[in-house]
Amino acid sequence: LSAADEVNSLLASYPDFPLDGIVFRDLNPVFANAAAFRAMIDALVGRFQGRFDAVAGIEARGFLLAAAIGYAADVAVLAVRKGGKLPGAVLTEEYDLEYGSARLELELGQLPAGSRVLIVDDVLATGGTIAATMRLIERAGYALTGVGVVLELEELDGRSRLGNADVHAIVAL
Ligand code: 5GP
Repeated sequence: LSAADEVNSLLASYPDFPLDGIVFRDLNPVFANAAAFRAMIDALVGRFQGRFDAVAGIEARGFLLAAAIGYAADVAVLAVRKGGKLPGAVLTEEYDLEYGSARLELELGQLPAGSRVLIVDDVLATGGTIAATMRLIERAGYALTGVGVVLELEELDGRSRLGNADVHAIVAL
């Protein structure tokens, strides 16, 4: 099966979670299926092959993707963390969530200036999380290769907040 078929067949939907009116998409069954996980990683690596020196995963499920992509593509792995967890010199970005607000941070000095970075996360919803991560990558002096996600929720129009970034979603709903 293609990565898109794997994701479509395995993802689960939960109405009114975590709040009334929100349909939560659960990708854990996709991560829990070895063939689906491999297909997903291969699809993301293939889409951006040869164009990135590092992959930045957004806490927490982005970490799972970034670790596997970093290994498969033999590139560096960056962890974009939720606020307050990193020591030393860090960059901070505040952002709005589909429900609530939050803070993301990136530790400075991990890659040479100009390194080409691919951002990955599980879901592109309103785009606030990835837009904040793009600002962190830019402020750190890196070059954005693009953005890879497993699932894009099109009705939330997150893509419109990502400028002209090269955004690839395995599945769009
Ligand atoms: P955004 O900032 O694009 O609105 O939200 C994206 C972040 O919220 C992602 O890191 C993702 O983990 C989480 N998120 C938002 N909606 C969903 C959803 O329906 N399912 C899952 N699994 N995560 C979601």
